[in-house]
Amino acid sequence: MANSDNQIVIHFGELWLKGRNRSSFVKILNRNLRASLKDEKYDKLENARDRFILHLEKGSDRESIMNALSHVFGISWFAPVVITGNSVAEIMRAASGMYKKGERVRIEAHRSFKGLRYNSQELVSAFLKNKKKFRFELDRDGSELLINITKDGAMLVKEKRRGPGGLPVGSSGRAVVLLSGGIDSPVAAFYAMKRGLEPVYLHVHAFNNNKQAISSKISELVKTLSSYSRSSRVYYAPAYLFQSATVKIPRKYELVVFRRFLFRLAEKVAEKENASAIVTGESLGQVASQTIANMASAQLGIKPMIIRPLIGFDKEEIISQAKRLGTYETSIKKYRDVCSIGVKNPSTKMNDRLVSRLYSECKLDSVLKRTEKLIS
Ligand code: ATP
Ligand code: MG
Repeated sequence: MANSDNQIVIHFGELWLKGRNRSSFVKILNRNLRASLKDEKYDKLENARDRFILHLEKGSDRESIMNALSHVFGISWFAPVVITGNSVAEIMRAASGMYKKGERVRIEAHRSFKGLRYNSQELVSAFLKNKKKFRFELDRDGSELLINITKDGAMLVKEKRRGPGGLPVGSSGRAVVLLSGGIDSPVAAFYAMKRGLEPVYLHVHAFNNNKQAISSKISELVKTLSSYSRSSRVYYAPAYLFQSATVKIPRKYELVVFRRFLFRLAEKVAEKENASAIVTGESLGQVASQTIANMASAQLGIKPMIIRPLIGFDKEEIISQAKRLGTYETSIKKYRDVCSIGVKNPSTKMNDRLVSRLYSECKLDSVLKRTEKLIS
């Protein structure tokens, strides 16, 4: 094995549990890793059975690469690694080259191969016996140096970083993510991607044409989210046909009728994109449209599965996740969202019959067909 510190070891997370699907999941993770590193300089990405080894080269930007890796779902942890032979002398020599003078280091040794003449404890003792020879200092409270001993060699890992976990984006298929300008839906998109769904976004806007919507903050939200997925197609559709068709219905009913319309539109995009689910940022009871009765009558007859990753989240939890994700600042920027127009006291007890009646009175099937033609 090469003795070089110019490598990063990348460990899968849950992929281990997947039994027979494992190889296809690893393939998707491999593809996603390459996509997320497409602007980076590196020598090669090696698939080493239960992990990947990324070989860097001169000119590789390690920090930028580590940052990209922290956005790839399916990775449980990653770290710069030194690979060396598995004799005590080779391990000590390699460790010695990994630190600057005075750094405090705690040795943590594991053997996945037990056929050697020393055990983990004896390796640590050898370090202690030779401590004067190292530039670094051995210290129980120091940063961890993980030494993993295998049959073919030893892996020395420092600065272990947590990956985002979850499953590789695309391994669970595709979903249409209903994206608004608010705080919740970008967070819902994040959790959908975390479970392996590849997002296609749909935004329904209050502008006169899609061009204006494209230059709005929605693109900014998608850009932040796209560091987690290879591609992020966004569909835009105007709400004005819906709005002029529904002027006559009582305002308190408009919200749920709009939501049914939104789902129908998402269903059309799902057909086109071969997506089997629709993702929303709804949470139970957060606003009037999010009572069980209202959510149920809005989704009546919709074929794709509707996924609401935030169903059990409090608003504060969603906000702190949005801040971590980096979408919060964009979400709170002023924006004229379709749902924010009017409606002070929307009904919380809509039922299927009422929604269906209003839907057909306003001829929303035909409005849907015409709106579909305006999607781009
Ligand atoms: P958000 O913060 O995501 O806007 P919200 O708490 O404001 O959510 P609603 O306005 O009831 O709640 O919207 C619920 C969900 O419906 C949103 O999370 C989003 O998935 C979807 N949605 C709402 N408005 C739109 C829109 N204009 N275009 C596409 N999807 C939308
Ligand atoms: Mg909203």
